[in-house]
Amino acid sequence: TKLRVGLLFGGRSGEHEVSIISARAIAKALSAEENSNKYEILPFYIQKDGFWQAGETAQQVLESGVAMENPAVTPNLWQFPPLTAEIELWFPILHGPNGEDGTIQGLLTLMQKPFVGSGVLGSATGMDKIGMKTAFAQAGLPQVKYKAITREQVWSNSCVFPKLCDEIEATLGYPCFVKPANLGSSVGITKVRSRRELEAALDNAATYDRRIIVEAGVVAREVECAVLGNDNPKASVIGEITFDSDFYDYETKYTEGKADLFIPANLPEAIVQKIQEMALQAFAAVDAAGLARVDFFYVEATGEILINEINTLPGFTATSMYPQLWANTGVPFPQLVDQLIQLAMERHSAAK
Ligand code: ADP
Ligand code: MG
Ligand code: MG
Repeated sequence: TKLRVGLLFGGRSGEHEVSIISARAIAKALSAEENSNKYEILPFYIQKDGFWQAGETAQQVLESGVAMENPAVTPNLWQFPPLTAEIELWFPILHGPNGEDGTIQGLLTLMQKPFVGSGVLGSATGMDKIGMKTAFAQAGLPQVKYKAITREQVWSNSCVFPKLCDEIEATLGYPCFVKPANLGSSVGITKVRSRRELEAALDNAATYDRRIIVEAGVVAREVECAVLGNDNPKASVIGEITFDSDFYDYETKYTEGKADLFIPANLPEAIVQKIQEMALQAFAAVDAAGLARVDFFYVEATGEILINEINTLPGFTATSMYPQLWANTGVPFPQLVDQLIQLAMERHSAAK
């Protein structure tokens, strides 16, 4: 008999649409010849307002690839998902907040069913850039200089804010990057070159998140490594992203033709090995499981490799970096999703 897989997609996040495309790619791979007699897919679509849809409605979104624009129900209403009892394994493919950050992983843990990817700790640590950097520092991974800030400090009426800006200028300098701690897809991130821009960027980031991070800017190539496994994970070949824009911002990420992926990246063998080693260390440092994409800055002039971030539910469309890295490492897409499900089963039985 087939394993009933709950494919969980959409979600209350800016990456709702990407999630739908990722889910379509995964559904296709699960119905590919080598998997079709192993898995039955039951789609669960989380609307932008957080309402869960199962059955025909979810199937329709999966098939059309189009988000439900006019949800029929009151916003922010959460109901216990229908049909969840039938599911034997969950495959969450939600990107960003309310999906990649440990919230869904907590719910799935309570449901006591195996699920693909990291648990609560790995997901939450991977999503929060301050928590993530603390874990990386503890593991001895090199990264850019940074400062953690709260919204409270930015929106205070006292002299706290000017002092804070003075300190950022003195320790990080320009250009620096201001980021909300808990987002993705470059949303809310600004590259700043002056005091005026810094003040505006901090104010803007504070509208997205209570927690904010400011980082020293680095001039570097952007390279990524995919990790697959649980306690003994493997690292893929390295991929590189190139673009003409100022940085890898939202528009560059999601506008066709604005960025190019090179797999494998043209890098010296020693650098490749070092990046793979660091990717596995980063995976362990946040307690990731199943899958993660680890992103780096490679400063060619000095040979320095700095870790930028880990993404515990990376983009999973047919053209996304994560599945392409594995395809180039010898694990084609259908085999990749099959392995992820097997890893979820293993982790679940080991936890018992
Ligand atoms: P997200 O999680 O939204 O992808 P990132 O931290 O990866 O956020 O930042 C998005 C992009 O911004 C990076 O891919 C890179 O192009 C640029 N960037 C971020 N931080 C720095 C930095 N410290 N120095 C140089 N570029 C950076
Ligand atoms: Mg990210
Ligand atoms: Mg990134």
